[in-house]
Amino acid sequence: MAKDVLCEVDTCVHWHSGNKCAAEQIYITSHEKAHTSAETDCKTFEVK
Ligand code: SF4
Repeated sequence: MAKDVLCEVDTCVHWHSGNKCAAEQIYITSHEKAHTSAETDCKTFEVK
């Protein structure tokens, strides 16, 4: 299980300084069958 999530998406309401994700949990989805990180997305993202 992921303990600390680092994230660079500073337009997300869950984002905190130091690239920390403050969400209780996050949900990551994939486009089709992901083979690269670019083919994944954080569905927990909420714009500030
Ligand atoms: S919810 Fe997702 S996009 Fe938002 S800070 Fe956490 S990991 Fe990043």
